[in-house]
Amino acid sequence: MSEQPESPRPPTKPRKVPRVLILGGGTVGLYTARRLRRRLGRREAAIVVVDPRPYMTYAPFLPEVAAGSIDPRHAVAPHRFALPGIDSLQGKVSRIEHAARRVEITPDEGDPYWVTYDHLVVGLGAVARTLPIPGLAEVGVGFKNVEEAIALRNHVLGRIDMAASTWDPDLRRRMLTFTFVGGGFAGIEALAELEDMARDAAANYDSVSPDELNFVLVEATPRILPEVSEELGGYTLDQLRKRNIHIHLSTFLNSCVDRHVVLSDGTEYDSETIVWTAGVKANPVLSHSDLPLDQMGRVRCAATLQVVDEDGGVVDGAWAAGDCAAVPDLLNPGSFCPPNAQHALREAKLLGENIARHLRSAEPEAYRHRNVGTVASLGMHQGVAQMFGRFKVRGLLAWVLHRTYHLYAMPTLNRKFRIASGWTATLLFRREVVALGTLHDPRAEFRAAAVPPRSGRSKDGAQGSTDPHIGATHAQESSSED
Ligand SMILES: Cc1cc2nc3c(=O)[nH]c(=O)nc-3n(C[C@H](O)[C@H](O)[C@H](O)COP(=O)(O)OP(=O)(O)OC[C@H]3O[C@@H](n4cnc5c(N)ncnc54)[C@H](O)[C@@H]3O)c2cc1C
Repeated sequence: MSEQPESPRPPTKPRKVPRVLILGGGTVGLYTARRLRRRLGRREAAIVVVDPRPYMTYAPFLPEVAAGSIDPRHAVAPHRFALPGIDSLQGKVSRIEHAARRVEITPDEGDPYWVTYDHLVVGLGAVARTLPIPGLAEVGVGFKNVEEAIALRNHVLGRIDMAASTWDPDLRRRMLTFTFVGGGFAGIEALAELEDMARDAAANYDSVSPDELNFVLVEATPRILPEVSEELGGYTLDQLRKRNIHIHLSTFLNSCVDRHVVLSDGTEYDSETIVWTAGVKANPVLSHSDLPLDQMGRVRCAATLQVVDEDGGVVDGAWAAGDCAAVPDLLNPGSFCPPNAQHALREAKLLGENIARHLRSAEPEAYRHRNVGTVASLGMHQGVAQMFGRFKVRGLLAWVLHRTYHLYAMPTLNRKFRIASGWTATLLFRREVVALGTLHDPRAEFRAAAVPPRSGRSKDGAQGSTDPHIGATHAQESSSED
């Protein structure tokens, strides 16, 4: 990045080349930047993308990453590779002062600094929408990013390994009980893919029977998959029940302190794995901005993807799209575009076009998109799809549609090719079901070997640290494994 961190003051004179600062390098950030660079040369606009991660994650592939059908590295597009001619800054946006045309960036190391701009694109996405449920913050895991997908896969496989190494029936039951909270698309796909993978893995153990695996879904409403018709939602429910997945509809998670699950229908059990997939909310960093937000914390937008104030007046130089933006759905008057990749991707391309038009003194166009359809994978060779709102597809064909659609939408030819090769290898050699649990605490073995020798020996002559602080530190660090 050529730009040096700047001092916290507003720009005094216009730049020769306007700078477009894109917050978030996810679906919106990546596609807006690429489209803008395609339309405008370096002498027409400088483009800067800010994200704490050096890659864009294609989230629809996360369930397949967790199931081991896609290599995690292939489900992400590295910014430096996918964004030629565009500067990338690694850090978190911590404040937005649009009135002064500046954004504060907090890097992982070093002090926060400010970057100024002429046009701002807000593509900060969403975070998990959680509730203050006792125990959830301590033991729950989300399913929003590739790190969580990798950790969850290793965790699930690790619990099967552990159950296979004990005859204690209570411990086995606890290890082999996996709870998912939230029956929307992300939750159902994550549950179905992981269950499929876990049963596949358990078949390789003499001491664990696939029948011992207990997958549980907890959903607050009376149905699952609100994104598709009731009929298709009901079909999915039947399929999951046939796979012995326990489903609690119209039920809330009341507590999960110490991994003891208490549901609102009176059910109680121990579960080593509690995955929270109960919806998303706009990125909370937006509350540290002077941009106009709606009641749900999303940036208010016009259909042209320009930020607007409460009266509908355009906020000059500010644009937004994706999960963090309230974009009016012109084809369903009165409603907003739902938070999904289908909209985020198309909005982003139009956003790039619109900024280019604006810089060339042309009028921006309005976003208008008819839903192509919804596709979901329910494990190997199983899926559901609803195309153009009407055509309902089930089973193998839906699964093929799911893979074809998302492979098409995955950015860069390089990634498409790698994912397709991985799928072919899995078809030929079956999928990998090994748990690399130590990935999450790679220093554990070295730390144990490197503990400084004690000054003396204990009464029984054994050597080892008696410093309670060392023990405490180790316990703390090890607990980060999952
Ligand atoms: C498991 C899962 C499965 C899904 N499956 C589907 C599907 O099948 N079909 C579908 O249409 N949609 C699906 N979605 C939804 C879809 O992925 C999102 O709607 C889409 O990615 C939104 O794009 P976005 O650019 O708004 O946000 P994101 O793609 O999430 O990008 C936001 C970016 O902002 C960055 N960021 C966050 N905070 C900061 C900060 N403070 N400073 C700087 N950068 C920051 C993040 O690192 C990220 O790169 C799925 C989502 C999940 C989680």
